[in-house]
Amino acid sequence: EYTGMSKERMMEIRRKNCNPMIMKVTSYKKPVFIHQGHMQWLWDVDGKRYLDLFAGVATVSVGHCHPKVTAAAEQQLKRLWHTTNIYVYPPLHEYCEKLASYLPDPLKVVYLTNSGSEANDLAMLMARLYTGNFDIITFRGSYHGGSPQTMGLTSNAAYKYPIANGLGCTNTMCPDVFRGPWGGSHCRDSPVQTIRECSCAQGYCMANDQYIGQLKETFATSVPSRIAAFFGEPIQGVGGAVQYPKNYLKEAYKLVRERGGVCIADEVQTGFGRTGSHFWGFQGHDVIPDMVTMAKGIGNGFPMGAVVTTPEIAASFAKGVHFNTFGGNPVACAVASSVLDTIKEDGAQQNSLNVGTYLMTELAKLRDKYEIIGDVRGKGLQIGVEMVKDKASREPLPPEAMSEIFEDIKDMGALIGKGGVYGQTFRIKPPMCITMEDADFFLAIFNKSIHNYMERR
Ligand code: PMP
Repeated sequence: EYTGMSKERMMEIRRKNCNPMIMKVTSYKKPVFIHQGHMQWLWDVDGKRYLDLFAGVATVSVGHCHPKVTAAAEQQLKRLWHTTNIYVYPPLHEYCEKLASYLPDPLKVVYLTNSGSEANDLAMLMARLYTGNFDIITFRGSYHGGSPQTMGLTSNAAYKYPIANGLGCTNTMCPDVFRGPWGGSHCRDSPVQTIRECSCAQGYCMANDQYIGQLKETFATSVPSRIAAFFGEPIQGVGGAVQYPKNYLKEAYKLVRERGGVCIADEVQTGFGRTGSHFWGFQGHDVIPDMVTMAKGIGNGFPMGAVVTTPEIAASFAKGVHFNTFGGNPVACAVASSVLDTIKEDGAQQNSLNVGTYLMTELAKLRDKYEIIGDVRGKGLQIGVEMVKDKASREPLPPEAMSEIFEDIKDMGALIGKGGVYGQTFRIKPPMCITMEDADFFLAIFNKSIHNYMERR
């Protein structure tokens, strides 16, 4: 039972002493006061239970307070809290070797950070030093961080400030087969296809060609002939689980490398088994990046991030000194190491595939039933449900309507996220321990919330 600070008092402190921006992002009209978590469940201070389908933004990978991971943290806390990379200590080395074993050659050199923004900052720096070039390309609608450098990679006005940020970053058209002009219904790697007309003939995808054409136009119009890097999430996270035509990344990587750039996969949301079919999102695109950046799920909620790159790129970076006090902290390493073991022991990746595919298949039935569900997409437990005014116009469902449904779902006991450039996409990315019964529990709630909204409308 909760006997701590009152809700009113917390709100008062929040108004006075906390980052007020949090208030805007916390878009529930009646806030949720979380007290405790276990696996896929959260409890508020009144003892009400919620099925957590957002996992702190795809961050709690194996489950809240997972007993095995908690035990690993406890053990390390008793032995050694902190030392730095100046010294050689076991947890760091055990973890770097283990993490590297999950990546294909030549991705074998690990840098540990404390967040995703920090990992992407480091990747930007390394790419520029290694290539000797400056310009970096990312997708519109992407989120890669909130630091002044990574804000330039991020392409979503909601997260931008009017300062000189991320100089040398250019955003190119996102190859979004639902919202984009060219459609493409069978060319994305998801159990659910779009409702858009298919322009794909056998072995040829017109939409893909058009989107690659846009990338070529970005090269021709907006950057010098030599570039430093291309950043792409295998499936957009904050952007709303946006997926690209199957061959897009493969062709884009080739074009980027022809221009001297390195290819960087931001796996902050898609890594660690979340996409189900593969451990890393990039594997679903049949590419091998030159750098992979990670955070969130890497520590099951423990603050941590990483960049993994090739020995060649690492060598060029080793010419200077890069130091990070907390990067590779022993407790973080022990936790992350246990997370890797737990994903394997719990069969979390396979569960992501099974439950995620089931969820999407059932959600697609609701899409066919309701005019305001425009698209269901994703892979594994990285799922987006894009809401529209109507299927013909594909105009985003307005924020007030999104909020009403969002609030209703919360009141019925499930927490999901919102995203997309217009805030029009519901995001489902639960801890990977979620069960089929949980999926049914959510599907009933989601159906009811849309039904309620349609009745009110
Ligand atoms: N990359 C992606 C894909 C993300 O979703 C995020 C966070 N939403 C980041 C990077 C930044 O991570 P952090 O908040 O840990 O800095």
